[in-house]
Amino acid sequence: MTMTFADKSLTCRECGNAFVWTAGEQEFYQQKGLLHEPQRCPDCRKKAKAARAAARAANMHDVICSNCGKAAQVPFEPRTDRPVYCSECFEAHRNAPPPAAAPPA
Ligand SMILES: [Zn+2]
Ligand SMILES: [Zn+2]
Repeated sequence: MTMTFADKSLTCRECGNAFVWTAGEQEFYQQKGLLHEPQRCPDCRKKAKAARAAARAANMHDVICSNCGKAAQVPFEPRTDRPVYCSECFEAHRNAPPPAAAPPA
């Protein structure tokens, strides 16, 4: 299936400004399987992204990795009754097969 794209004028629902959804972006959206038109102009998208990043950074908590003892940051309030891992150990932990059932005594 081939589709041709043409620049399209959209209105940002955030600031109400008109912006151009370029043919190139439309193609990118289609490749990504995104069916909806962008709701925000590139400026507002950038701002929203920065705000999310800032909110995430503000939410980071310093922890000590339960596995390797390295200082790390996690994007949630660490619980004292649960081990916390640095990103490396978290990845290793997540990719590890589930522990085998304890052998019968
Ligand atoms: Zn906008
Ligand atoms: Zn670690």
